[in-house]
Amino acid sequence: MEKLYDQYDRLHDYVRISITDRCNLRCVYCMPKEGLPFFPTDRVLSQDEIVQLITNFARLGVHKVRITGGEPLLRTDVVDVVRRVKAVDGIEDVSITTNGLFLAKKAAALKDAGLDRLNISLDTFKPDVYKKITRGGNINQVLDGIATAAKLHFKKIKLNIVLIRGQNDDEVLDFIRYTKDNDVNVRFIEFMPIGNSLEDWKEEYVALDSVFDLCQQAGLKYHPIDLAGNGPSDNYQVEGYTGSFGLIHPISSKFCENCNRLRITADGYIKACLYWNEEINVRKLIYDFDAFKAGVKRALDNKPLNHEMAMKTTDRIIDKAPTWRHMSQIGG
Ligand code: SAM
Ligand code: SF4
Repeated sequence: MEKLYDQYDRLHDYVRISITDRCNLRCVYCMPKEGLPFFPTDRVLSQDEIVQLITNFARLGVHKVRITGGEPLLRTDVVDVVRRVKAVDGIEDVSITTNGLFLAKKAAALKDAGLDRLNISLDTFKPDVYKKITRGGNINQVLDGIATAAKLHFKKIKLNIVLIRGQNDDEVLDFIRYTKDNDVNVRFIEFMPIGNSLEDWKEEYVALDSVFDLCQQAGLKYHPIDLAGNGPSDNYQVEGYTGSFGLIHPISSKFCENCNRLRITADGYIKACLYWNEEINVRKLIYDFDAFKAGVKRALDNKPLNHEMAMKTTDRIIDKAPTWRHMSQIGG
């Protein structure tokens, strides 16, 4: 079986594919407040194209797929996408990242279609703060979605929390205490300056070391744990708790070192690195496996060692431009 390595010998066996750029929220860290013009339908990968892309990747050693967006549950065929991707020979693990608004309705069908894992974005437990961060969302819909999913025995449920100074950074301990009786992994994610001006971003960025300080002040005893297949997050568990918490610190700590992922945008471009503009259109290559493989290898050959995300343009070592895409157009 062929395998995909980049020039730094990192094995790439994980694909994150965005199946839509559309979203029913406008989260402050992800989209501009006026929203974004969404792609016309024919610019977005069709179900058959998604399945063919994943089939090609599986032939290149990929065995893990995450479906993302925009909001993936907005696609009316999302259950069929999951079923068909899970059925691809070689694909062992299929997960979705969702804002959870439609989860109560769709979780059972997704589980039935073979979905293994769920990541649900929930940055706060406070309805008014949720409405503010998401620019209009109703937290009760997400909480219903989480409650429904919890009864369905997915392999893992994770909650994604982007910490934003002055908005939800006072809820770190509430999230950690939530793992006392709930078997979830809550993951604090550093706010990344993608599609945001560097200056605005700096005011709202919170480095995740503060999570340890808060635990210590609260007298919570925690220890590192190993969660299989957990990518860039460092995980911990408070003694006696059922669930766990994780830290994803793309800015303040190592994140790229063991990067094993390739991202596919909703319009069919490979982004080997989340941050840089460099991308290759693989949509037009999907029915010619050799051309497809060459395109993927070219993307990997150009993949940098690090994203250098928070460095001022003048300090950059890499001579490339940051991506023009907002996070909702990449998939996170
Ligand atoms: N709509 C789905 C959701 O919100 O879960 C999936 C797409 S969203 C782009 C994927 C993940 O990216 C979410 O967990 C979101 O919190 C995260 N994200 C978006 N913008 C971010 C940013 N600037 N920094 C860090 N994480 C971000
Ligand atoms: Fe939509 Fe997800 Fe971006 Fe929020 S984070 S605007 S839910 S794509």
